[in-house]
Amino acid sequence: MASNKKLLVLPGDGIGPEVMRQVYRVVDWFDRRRIVSFDLAEDLVGGAAYDAHGTPLADGTLQAAMAADAVLFGAVGGPKWDSLPFSAKPERGLLRLRKELGLFANLRPAMVFEPLIGASTLRPEVIRDLDLMIVRELTGGVYFGEPRGVETLPDGTRRGINTQVYTTPEIVRVGRVAFELARKRRGRVTSVEKSNVMESGLLWREEMQALRDREYRDVELSHMYADNCAMQLVRNPKQFDVIVTDNLFGDLLSDCAAMLTGSLGMLPSASLGAADAGGGRKALYEPVHGSAPDIAGKDMANPLACVLSFAMMLRYSFDLGEEAALVERAVVNTLKGGVRTSDIMQTGTARVSTTVMGDTLLRELDKLA
Ligand code: NAD
Repeated sequence: MASNKKLLVLPGDGIGPEVMRQVYRVVDWFDRRRIVSFDLAEDLVGGAAYDAHGTPLADGTLQAAMAADAVLFGAVGGPKWDSLPFSAKPERGLLRLRKELGLFANLRPAMVFEPLIGASTLRPEVIRDLDLMIVRELTGGVYFGEPRGVETLPDGTRRGINTQVYTTPEIVRVGRVAFELARKRRGRVTSVEKSNVMESGLLWREEMQALRDREYRDVELSHMYADNCAMQLVRNPKQFDVIVTDNLFGDLLSDCAAMLTGSLGMLPSASLGAADAGGGRKALYEPVHGSAPDIAGKDMANPLACVLSFAMMLRYSFDLGEEAALVERAVVNTLKGGVRTSDIMQTGTARVSTTVMGDTLLRELDKLA
């Protein structure tokens, strides 16, 4: 049994610690069954870290994250810290982690679980068996490009500036993540930009094509304008396997794709850094949802997004695809059994607490093992 997997857990604020508690139970389940075990450490982040250390990410925590094989993150933020200056806000803890770990590729799967098909606003036949992955470039583009700012012009009016900028290495490294993923999935990548109106988009298209022709001839690559992609995601989302796109378009399209599946409480994500010589990568896994202050402390939160983030970690950081699939099957069977947290309630199902959802998940794991 391997135990050389260093995992840093950062539960954070609000429902973060509540959903993470259920992940710990799954970790413990794997450990007790002697399937896989982790060298676990836990630390504070976000508002909790600010309360303890006066900063949303202490240097020691950052060092622990740098030394870990993977970071599992809950959620940060809440009204208690809303009036803090920008640099001390809980969310800065997450942004600093992403920046310092060099996490340039954000992976957001959009999967429809059959028992939740009614939770989507789209017709069942449009989304049944949907399984797509959006790879968003996370550290470049218009959110970081220079020059930026707001300036006052000689006539007294103002001008706001942001710059969309991408270089070949930035495009190639995120492209590689998308092509590698496609190889493990259905072998298709759609690269999305606006090369009809943006030079940076044209560069994006050319570099993606050149990379594919050079290194990934076994993967099918097509190109799509971002506005068309938004339409296609709603019209016929099952045409996609892996979508790779820039920071801005990825921000919008991944939220759009997420809502195909119906619930925030079901959505995992991963953020990956560059591969090192040994083939490992810095990586952070987190549910897409925030700290949900409205339900925090009430044992009401859906823990499945966090559990599914853990499954992504098994697959992408530790190459434990079978174990990841086991967790995912247990999630589907939990839903099939008719238990629901309030965010995914449907008629004919039973509303349960976070803890009972965790109990049910463990029973389903027991049945599968
Ligand atoms: P949110 O995702 O926290 O909540 C939005 C709505 O969805 C709320 O009604 C909430 O109760 C519900 N919800 C979210 N997750 C749920 C779950 N697992 N189970 C059941 N219901 C769930 O977004 P928000 O309300 O915009 O933000 C709240 C706080 O979280 C803010 O401080 C925000 O800055 C922060 N935030 C943090 C992250 C992060 O840590 N990555 C992401 C988004 C928002």
